[in-house]
Amino acid sequence: PPAFSDRPSRAVIDLDALRHNYRLARGRHGGRALAALKADAYGHGDVACARALAPLADGFAVAFLAEAHALRAAGIAAPILILEGCFSAEELVAAHAMDCWVVAHQESQLRAIEAHPELAGLNVWLKVDSGMRRAGFLPADVRDAHRRLAACPQVARLTLMTHFARADEPGVPATADQIACFEAATAGLAGERSLANSAGVLGWPAARGDWARPGILLYGADPMPLPDAALRPVMTLESAVFAVRDLQPGDALGYGGRFVADAPCRVGLVAIGYADGYPRTVPTGTPVLVGEQSSRIVGRVSMDLLTVDLTHLPEAGIGSRVELWGPRVPINLVAAAAGTISYELLCHVRRVPRMYV
Ligand code: PLP
Repeated sequence: PPAFSDRPSRAVIDLDALRHNYRLARGRHGGRALAALKADAYGHGDVACARALAPLADGFAVAFLAEAHALRAAGIAAPILILEGCFSAEELVAAHAMDCWVVAHQESQLRAIEAHPELAGLNVWLKVDSGMRRAGFLPADVRDAHRRLAACPQVARLTLMTHFARADEPGVPATADQIACFEAATAGLAGERSLANSAGVLGWPAARGDWARPGILLYGADPMPLPDAALRPVMTLESAVFAVRDLQPGDALGYGGRFVADAPCRVGLVAIGYADGYPRTVPTGTPVLVGEQSSRIVGRVSMDLLTVDLTHLPEAGIGSRVELWGPRVPINLVAAAAGTISYELLCHVRRVPRMYV
């Protein structure tokens, strides 16, 4: 069959940048680091990222069983922590059979672990709710949960963890409060500690524990308000101009006619749209790169195409490369323009081929 490879849109994944960011996370944190590969490695391809990181990573973290299974089926032998998605006894047994580590965050899991001798050798991460009020044992219940797990013959290793709600907000006391709460709740309890997500690694030295669990920073998107120049973006979302239109004053461009030319202008049609994961909600003015020059989105993003301003780029035309985000167009700017976060944009990339470099 013919290879329909002529659509110029793709997500280029720089695995060297991924390795660089992992090393940076480990260096900043000072302990070991589980690379969060959930949601298909935040849209970057979990198996490819796991293979790239395998020689240097201490282990991986995924959200649920099927994600762990995909990595094991691809031959990934490194430790894998399943962050929250092992609820029933069957799931715990299946996770352990795949040699995965599990998070215990509620009473039903403790009972399942206690009741199933086939879980012998289990590696459990006991999750403390230090203030996020999502999953985890409340501080008042942590000692009892720890005592039961420590006494349970199935449990071979017990690690204490917590997760931050607002570590990406440097001036806000919530994270310091969470650290203090976690320390008080776990004081004197045996086991290694894990606190920091990416924002914890980058912004909160007091969150150093034995293990970090970085996600977004591995992909080069900084969760903190002031971007860290040492991070290298991993994904470049790129396409090309496939047609050029001249607009006259008064012409209204695209769906809804939101952009009305107030002077003659030149618009490039780019072969990527919201069906590929570029957010429909960005306004006119959102940055893009055309060739080597900065430009902007004009008008509404369509399903299969979007429109960029070429008025001041006379050398740009059909075939010009367009970077939607990547090393030259920070994804955080696009996310802010779309009213979301880099995480969501990365996870939503689809329909474009991934190219690993
Ligand atoms: N740890 C836990 C428990 C998580 O749920 C997540 C992701 O949400 C992470 C770590 C990684 O977070 P981030 O991508 O912000 O580094």
